[in-house]
Amino acid sequence: MWRSVRNYLIHFITRKPVGWHPLLAVYYLTYACDFRCPYCSDGNHVPYYRLPRADLPAAEVLELLRTIRRYCDYLVITGGEPFNHAACGQVLRGLPSLGFDGIVLTTNGYAIKPYLPLINKAVRYLVFSIDTLNHDKADRWFGAGAGTLKKVLHNIHSAATWPRRAYEIIISAVATPDNLDDLRAVHRYCRERGFRFALAPQLLGVKPHPALAQNSAYRQIFDDLLTAKRRGEAINGTVRYLQHMRDLACFACRPSTVLAVAPQGDVFYPCLERGTIAGNLRRTADLHLLRIQGKRSFGPEPRCDNRCHSACALSFALMLDQPLSLAHEAYLSVRAFCKSRRGRHDF
Ligand code: SF4
Ligand code: SF4
Repeated sequence: MWRSVRNYLIHFITRKPVGWHPLLAVYYLTYACDFRCPYCSDGNHVPYYRLPRADLPAAEVLELLRTIRRYCDYLVITGGEPFNHAACGQVLRGLPSLGFDGIVLTTNGYAIKPYLPLINKAVRYLVFSIDTLNHDKADRWFGAGAGTLKKVLHNIHSAATWPRRAYEIIISAVATPDNLDDLRAVHRYCRERGFRFALAPQLLGVKPHPALAQNSAYRQIFDDLLTAKRRGEAINGTVRYLQHMRDLACFACRPSTVLAVAPQGDVFYPCLERGTIAGNLRRTADLHLLRIQGKRSFGPEPRCDNRCHSACALSFALMLDQPLSLAHEAYLSVRAFCKSRRGRHDF
């Protein structure tokens, strides 16, 4: 926790930190995935499941995460689909001993059920991807056969009703030109079950899908989320964040607030989206040195045009440029808490 405060202050004071001081590490446990979501893409238009697969054994994954822990308090484990890693159970078993302050696990939810006991001990935020509740459409998008959404929803229910559940459930949706009419139902599904709802636009490579900008249905969804947020619902992101997502507005990215690490330990510099590698954290366990190597090879951090409206890039940029938005977020949380205690609908 104190490392995060220190790292935040370093980024707040300077746009050009000397070392690497991430607020969040994102580890791609595996690129493998059996789903075929139509928007799946890294920053270079390549779906993750098409990237070369090079998974580490569990012991080496944990060693790598131990190194990451020296630099960062919070970890996201993602993919691909993390449960396509052959030893994901062993990885989950080893996570609590690493002492991260918070671990986020993202999943398509298909194969999660046997792992719920381990997840309950290791994970603080469990993120499922749901883009529509229309079963035919979802199954077509998942590309994993009929009945896929039914199974995923069943697994989410199991996760939600797990005895003494210690993690929060987040439903993450991607807004594309083809599911704008479906997102309200996904939001309602979250509200009725007390799940946090996270929405982000489809990116083509690094740019928002051109059919979303100025699309009134797209903007209306974010306006609805802003209203829900102000009412105290669990909507991911600050008010400023949701406004930026709605407007697809330009922001001053701070790429080194996030440490993105590929399955084999390769560290992306300046960012995953550029796809350039500073070095390997298993061979060079000094992140500050890797930053120097990255700068030497690829130059200073870029000032990009309007792009990369992803949760990490946008939220950290706004946290640093508009710190008052954090105070407002805290106010909304406290107000929602007080409302729930009083059992009132408004005050
Ligand atoms: S579940 Fe994730 S990794 Fe798999 S195809 Fe969909 S977006 Fe890509
Ligand atoms: S906006 Fe940020 S994340 Fe996107 S390419 Fe530029 S530096 Fe990388």
